Amino acid sequence: MRDPMQLLNLDWHSEEWWERAFEDDISVQEARLWEKHLVQCAECRREWEALRQLDTILRTAPPAPMLDASFTTRTVTRAVQKQHLRSLLSFLGSAFIIALVAWVVLNFLGNAYVSLGHALHVVRSEWQLLFTSLLQTVLALFTGWKIILPFLLGLAALSFLLLMPNGVLATLLFLWLSRRRPAALAVMN
Ligand SMILES: [Zn+2]
Repeated sequence: MRDPMQLLNLDWHSEEWWERAFEDDISVQEARLWEKHLVQCAECRREWEALRQLDTILRTAPPAPMLDASFTTRTVTRAVQKQHLRSLLSFLGSAFIIALVAWVVLNFLGNAYVSLGHALHVVRSEWQLLFTSLLQTVLALFTGWKIILPFLLGLAALSFLLLMPNGVLATLLFLWLSRRRPAALAVMN
């Protein structure tokens, strides 16, 4: 049993007391004095009541829905897959750029042959001139490819759509002829 004098010296408004009182870590006598204070002190009564209500709500509230045990695993897996997808897209993007550059270079070399060789005249159709001019524009912008990448891709896609399917076939024919005829072209040159 605590000394009644000490009890009288209790600071009802101290944080220490509130912690003890709320955790029910108080003697019967202290509890009785506390009840008395609550009757007299409106401020403490209000706060005490509010705390009690909060405690009740927290105790009776339904438990938070448990996360599926595999949730974390799945989340991590999905993140990794996204990472993989991003790497794949990045790789495909790079591959596309490299292929495009290679194609442009081959096309330019081919164009040089075309201007010299009657054998390749068939592929100098309007579509190719259009495509070549487009690709020349792209190549000119290529140094700043990071900035113009969306533009580049859009342009390539647009060209692809415009020139499908004859464009692709003619391109393949063109490349095939370019490879097949270097000797003949060298002679003509
Ligand atoms: Zn009070």
